Amino acid sequence: MYDVIIIGAGASGLMAAAAAASKGARVALLEHKDDIGKKILATGNGRCNFTNTDMSVNKFHGSKALIKNGLSQFNYADTIRFFKELGIPAYDNAGYIYPNSRQAASVVAAFRMELMRLHVDVKTGISITEIKTARITAEDTNSASNPATNKKTDDRTGYCIQTDKGSFKSKRLIIACGLTASPKLGSDGSLFRQIEALGHHIQKPLPALCGFSCDGLNFKKITGVRCDATVASVIDGQMTEQNTGELQLADYGISGIPVFQISSLMSRALDKGQRVEVIIDFLPAFSDDELNGYIKDRSITTTDNRSLNEMLNGLLNNKLLLELIHKSGVSPDKKGRLLTDDDCKSLTRSIKHTAVSVKKPRGAEFAQVCAGGICTKEIDVRTLESKIHPGLYFCGELLDVDGICGGYNLQWAWTSGYIAGEMQ
Ligand SMILES: Cc1cc2nc3c(=O)[nH]c(=O)nc-3n(C[C@H](O)[C@H](O)[C@H](O)COP(=O)(O)OP(=O)(O)OC[C@H]3O[C@@H](n4cnc5c(N)ncnc54)[C@H](O)[C@@H]3O)c2cc1C
Repeated sequence: MYDVIIIGAGASGLMAAAAAASKGARVALLEHKDDIGKKILATGNGRCNFTNTDMSVNKFHGSKALIKNGLSQFNYADTIRFFKELGIPAYDNAGYIYPNSRQAASVVAAFRMELMRLHVDVKTGISITEIKTARITAEDTNSASNPATNKKTDDRTGYCIQTDKGSFKSKRLIIACGLTASPKLGSDGSLFRQIEALGHHIQKPLPALCGFSCDGLNFKKITGVRCDATVASVIDGQMTEQNTGELQLADYGISGIPVFQISSLMSRALDKGQRVEVIIDFLPAFSDDELNGYIKDRSITTTDNRSLNEMLNGLLNNKLLLELIHKSGVSPDKKGRLLTDDDCKSLTRSIKHTAVSVKKPRGAEFAQVCAGGICTKEIDVRTLESKIHPGLYFCGELLDVDGICGGYNLQWAWTSGYIAGEMQ
């Protein structure tokens, strides 16, 4: 018999376990993978961008009520302090916070040591077959004490978790199983049926930090090209969001950080059947006038017979340049010195305002985060407790909150895990 059982040893579940056990609760952490924190190890390219000092509600999508309440209780400074207390000094790269070791493995190791110190019962490689509400008897209660604090439990209702390794009872249950982003790291939706059997509804998980399949450029020809670009999403004709950074062109379409930063709203719009386009500026360092003037000057000063394609050599990646010249409608073989004013305008438009039609997000298997999750109206936004079953809590990505890239999603995992874990 435990005070608290937590299902899922990802970022939010580990934080919930540490928070609950440090309050004296006897805690079990159940994880179906063979080890804890598998996804944490993959974060930030193995370096774990665990929070960001530029923290505000508008860095997130989904339930603003949840995130506002959450951040008011556990914000980035609390995260930095928490890890410092576990022996991990923060490394601050322009507000993006990493462990000083720049190793995600340090974060997982710190949790492992902390949970051991707090006598958390960590059970990995366990398969959950059923979650039931259960009556906690006096006999159960007497056996429930944390060896670290000798604190007794005294409640009457609770949960019984049936697994392939026996059944376990607890007074409270915290579900921290994530959604379906990168399922090979554990968050595979395998607990959804059990959650729904408890009467909760899960809004469809949608890939939120991900690339997109697109039409409008010959992506097979430009696959592998990376360049600084500004991408702007246009949903049903309305400009929605924009971001600048390293765009990655792939055989299916577009990816990279600037695409991730505008992806949540695009995924949601595509799911609703809305028309989505992305306008790409492949030369954000130049204004339209500057680029137009540059092309004109090159044309005027070109005295030999070089082609347009040769004349603009070095301006952009050569595969990309050729594709954008094609898209402009000007022949790449046209003599550079013979460009007309209209040619210069068409080239400028193609380089700075190419519209691609967005078809669909890449699958959840390629996404860093999913939008969607437990219906917010079914939980208390301050405590994260179920309004259907007292003593049942949800945290992490399973809740309807998704952040942009930059440490925001882990911050939400720490925030929500801490709140759910700390409740007694
Ligand atoms: C490649 C990659 C890089 C990322 N980089 C960053 C970054 O640098 N910064 C950032 O802020 N965010 C980053 N993220 C996002 C961040 O990792 C997640 O938002 C965060 O880990 C979510 O935490 P969670 O606890 O909600 O879910 P998860 O971390 O997905 O953990 C869920 C846990 O529950 C377990 N589980 C699932 N089903 C069951 C079941 N049936 N029984 C038992 N256990 C179960 C899973 O195995 C897993 O251990 C990245 C994500 C990916 C994939």
